[in-house]
Amino acid sequence: MSEKEDFLTVEKGKRLNSLYSDDEHLDEDNDSYEAISNNGKSWQDYGQSMLQQRVSTRSVVSLNIGAKGDVSTVPQLSPVIKHGWLCKNPPQGSYIYQKRWVKLDAEYLRYFDSDKDMYSKRIIPTASITSVANVGDQKFEVVTNNRTFVFKAESDSDRNEWVKVLQETVRDHNVTNRVSLLQQSSAASEEKQGALELRGLRSKLYVVVSGDKVFLYKNNEDYQLGIGITSIEMNLGNVKDADRRAFDLTTPYRTFSFVADSDKQKEEWMEAMQNSIGEALSNYEVAEKIWKEESNCFCADCGAAQPEWAAINLCVVFCKRCAGEHRGLGPSISKVRSLKMDKKVWTEELVELFQVLGNRRSNAFWAANVPPSEALSPASTSEERRRFISAKYREGKYRRYHPLFGNQEALDKALCINMQSSDVGETLSLVFCGANVNCDTGDPDCPSPISLAKSFDQKLQVEFLAQNKNTEIPRSEVGGHLDRQYYVAPPSITHNGFLFKTGSMGKPVTERKAKEEFSQRWCTLNDGVFSYFESPRNSTPNGDLRMKEIACLAVGVPETHGYDHTFEIYTDSERLYLFGTDNSDAMREWVKSIAKSFIPSSAEDLLNRDFERIGRLQYKDGLNLQSPKVGWFALVGSTLHVCFEDSEEEEAIHLKKLQELSIQQENEVLVLVERRRTLYIQGERKLDFQGWSSSIQRAAGSSGHTLCEQQLTEADIPVIVDRSIDYITQCGLTSEGIYRKSGVNSKIAALLESFRRDARNVRLKEGDHQVDDVSNVLKRFFRDTEEGMFTSQAANDWLSTPAMADDCQRVLHYQALLNNLPRVNKATLRALVNHLYCVQCFSDINQMNLHNLAIVFGPTLFQTDGKDYNAGRVVEDLISHYVAIFNVNEQQLKKQLDEISAIIKLRDLNSSSKVPPAGDFICTVYLEEKKETAEQHIKIPATMTAAELAFEILDRRKITVRENDYWCCFEVNEKEETERSLHYQEKVLPILHSLGTESYLVVKKHFSMEAMLIYLASKVDDSKHGMIKFREDRHLLGLGLSAFHDRYFILNRTSLRLYKEVRSLQKLQRAEQQCSHRPEKEWPVKSLKIYQGIKKKLRPPTCWGLTVVYANEKHEKQQWYLCCDTQTEMREWLSTFLSIQHDGNVWPSDSMKVCASRVPLDARLGNISLIPLRGSENEMRNSVAAFAADPLALFGKV
Ligand SMILES: [Zn+2]
Repeated sequence: MSEKEDFLTVEKGKRLNSLYSDDEHLDEDNDSYEAISNNGKSWQDYGQSMLQQRVSTRSVVSLNIGAKGDVSTVPQLSPVIKHGWLCKNPPQGSYIYQKRWVKLDAEYLRYFDSDKDMYSKRIIPTASITSVANVGDQKFEVVTNNRTFVFKAESDSDRNEWVKVLQETVRDHNVTNRVSLLQQSSAASEEKQGALELRGLRSKLYVVVSGDKVFLYKNNEDYQLGIGITSIEMNLGNVKDADRRAFDLTTPYRTFSFVADSDKQKEEWMEAMQNSIGEALSNYEVAEKIWKEESNCFCADCGAAQPEWAAINLCVVFCKRCAGEHRGLGPSISKVRSLKMDKKVWTEELVELFQVLGNRRSNAFWAANVPPSEALSPASTSEERRRFISAKYREGKYRRYHPLFGNQEALDKALCINMQSSDVGETLSLVFCGANVNCDTGDPDCPSPISLAKSFDQKLQVEFLAQNKNTEIPRSEVGGHLDRQYYVAPPSITHNGFLFKTGSMGKPVTERKAKEEFSQRWCTLNDGVFSYFESPRNSTPNGDLRMKEIACLAVGVPETHGYDHTFEIYTDSERLYLFGTDNSDAMREWVKSIAKSFIPSSAEDLLNRDFERIGRLQYKDGLNLQSPKVGWFALVGSTLHVCFEDSEEEEAIHLKKLQELSIQQENEVLVLVERRRTLYIQGERKLDFQGWSSSIQRAAGSSGHTLCEQQLTEADIPVIVDRSIDYITQCGLTSEGIYRKSGVNSKIAALLESFRRDARNVRLKEGDHQVDDVSNVLKRFFRDTEEGMFTSQAANDWLSTPAMADDCQRVLHYQALLNNLPRVNKATLRALVNHLYCVQCFSDINQMNLHNLAIVFGPTLFQTDGKDYNAGRVVEDLISHYVAIFNVNEQQLKKQLDEISAIIKLRDLNSSSKVPPAGDFICTVYLEEKKETAEQHIKIPATMTAAELAFEILDRRKITVRENDYWCCFEVNEKEETERSLHYQEKVLPILHSLGTESYLVVKKHFSMEAMLIYLASKVDDSKHGMIKFREDRHLLGLGLSAFHDRYFILNRTSLRLYKEVRSLQKLQRAEQQCSHRPEKEWPVKSLKIYQGIKKKLRPPTCWGLTVVYANEKHEKQQWYLCCDTQTEMREWLSTFLSIQHDGNVWPSDSMKVCASRVPLDARLGNISLIPLRGSENEMRNSVAAFAADPLALFGKV
């Protein structure tokens, strides 16, 4: 391309200004242009005189236009952040830098031929700048998505200044851009665009008429990229017909002579440009009126010229950069509007109010006491603006205090009296010093100040009060106040439309509301306030709701009420608002908009969920039970998503998998027990809590009749299946014809029903429940399951598999089918087949061999009538090839079978000796280490101590105890990588029950015991203090973010205390004595359990770690990690702990005595039924609770 042209000269032969970009092509000395006449005057003469005339009263209109996502506009007089001469890198191939006048404002970087030019050669939206960097040699580069511009400054310091300012502007762009983007809805769309010839140029330009501007781009491609040549403000434009297809756009600075392709095109272009002028002039109207008041021509905050924004409640006019910071205050403090774009809000009264008050009178109040050191200038940084504007309007730091400040009654009275005057300045002062806009006037005819003002026909007073009905009054103690605020001003959301509304309620909606009970209302959501009106024509709302008062938003089940789609809003003041519509899209839009307006940004992830209920609740958790925190919750199906107060990540609680769900303290606390956390949700307000409570309970129950809709265990098995299998395993494997014999129908139905209602709370107990009833419950459950075990679409594939002759192929096919099952079905099938496999292993006792089980379970699982034996054959295959199909670890299977054998043997023993089933547990204890050959199945009576268990094991293995062998029973937690030696007098049974699946007991020598005993013997007192590396467990939040920090610990007879800051040891010791120095944390020693070891994942700084577990009466665990520098150090802490916990009695003085005191086991059989050994942690816990409830049962037979 050999485009060697320039254009737009004013007089023939004399180039005054080249408009065209010089990026890729141009030779500036080329003067082969056609001149463009400008009434015989050079544009400078003409333009400058015009400029002088007009600039004093008006500025050139600035309007933001979305051009393919980019904003392309030249606010010509918008505050310039920096300008100056720079050299721009030359077009390709040339080495001569070109001197350019460069201007930067918040939105654009532009460069011009000279500082006198009105129209740029290039405009680069700051939004499109991706980076700005030094490139050495006084140069810097400005990188956009598609182009890089290199500039050279005159000095390094000037270069650095440009880079700094540019980087800051680009970074700030988000804030300011938000302001403009929000207003874009009112901006006009592109009216006409296309290629258009500009006289004097060989190739056509791409011209866009948009809103109140005309944009010139080199070509369509540049337009798409958002980088233009210049823009023409049409408020100063005039369109004139010229000869043939030509027409002129004249401005005070230049005439643009265009030539259209056809007469029709010409007509269209001219019309579009005329419209644009109209638009510009109308946009301009409000600004012009407001600027009539002289003080409004400068920003109320920084003094920048021609401010185009205003806070319509604070009655101040400010510049765009300050507007960004006003937005940041939130609409409850500053309602920001554009003078140019928000035409609709500028009623006659509001404009007049601004003319009357103006920045001068408003600032006489707002800025009465600004110290010069804090004042802004047009060049202030965003950070300075933010600080100043927040101090000025949020805290009211510089305001002129009203003489009545602090006296509420007097302020209110003064406000009422002032309503008969026209002194809005006084009203401003009263209101922003605390007078209540909605106070009671005592006049029944005019109960509010606003109605008083109306009665006195004080329109400006009415206007001012109306704008400030919901304004937050400045507070100087705002620092702490802010932190406690729930509400984080979200980007302003607006929405409006018709909804149907019932009267607000103080009770939950329990009955269907017919259509007649709703009335149609025009609803608007604006500036954080939801208002409803009689009709769109009314300007006074029937009522409104502030977004920050909303505690909860709930979406109704469709067709619950007369209107199909409903939602409920719950407020802090315990009111419930029900809205309805027949249009589901409208409902969704409303719910989305409202939720967006009251959910803080810290919890905004919740908004992406298809929630049925969202809101804020108080909660307590395992780490801190003293003071409640505030979390944001969203219920989605059976998952409760939570943004906890001190966690950055959202967490999910699977309600169907809860171990416990209960309501405590007279329906005021909802307790959710998960495997590793207990969460207390508190009813701060009754009304919305009731709603949460019932929907959480509903979501935690079974929601239907398919497998995955049931309450589930951690392993995704329906609780009903898991409990039934466990029970049969413990009590039913010896029962002849188990699963074939029928139970008692009414009992089966009742049990099944209670499982369906809330499986989590069904406890199967021998004596209460017959095995045949339970086995039939399981069968009936499977038979009634919707979709069946194998899903309706895949059932036939399963049924056709037995026809495959080759065993290997068949197994592979089953595996493939298994992998296609939904997660829950797969886990359930596996658990069931495992169980049936075990059942048939003992068929010599129960008579249920493979074939018999298949006959029973084939039709049950496939829900067929039993005539087609393929169903049975599938079950037979699954059981007989169980190991292969399910890829089973055979050692684990063997262990499982061994355990079952032990159970059977024991039951057998018990029944033959006519002793009722014992309160004993058979459990696996290891000798020295966890391996199969070291396994011992041992019956553990309720009274057995750790020492007795150790001797029992040693005895069985015929191991003699030598002197100085400290054989101990350890509780080992594989997952936590910790172990704890049980105290010799500690009862084993409760320990056993408290163990999770990842823990086991092992009897082995305690190698540190001797050293510990020696240390204790040498110790004078039983306290200890010193530095330990400490780390908190954040498991509740699922985060492992905290690290180990040095903390000072003091351990004494009663408590373990942690001190964060310790100045001197001496001081501390004094503190210890005086108890004056408050510890940061304190735990009662006797409630602690100390484990050796810290899991490696937490990266303990040394290998001498201790894991401290604190468990309260509610069985909630909290965990901390202490890490010592040396092994000796660790041993000393540990022995001090043990010594305190056991009153100095750490090891029996004569260990042989313990051994001898052992009572023969058989003589101590209790009368409590067997409890599942393989149950979840929680079941174990409940079992223990059952014991605790009836201690006599424990000791009755002892
Ligand atoms: Zn300003």
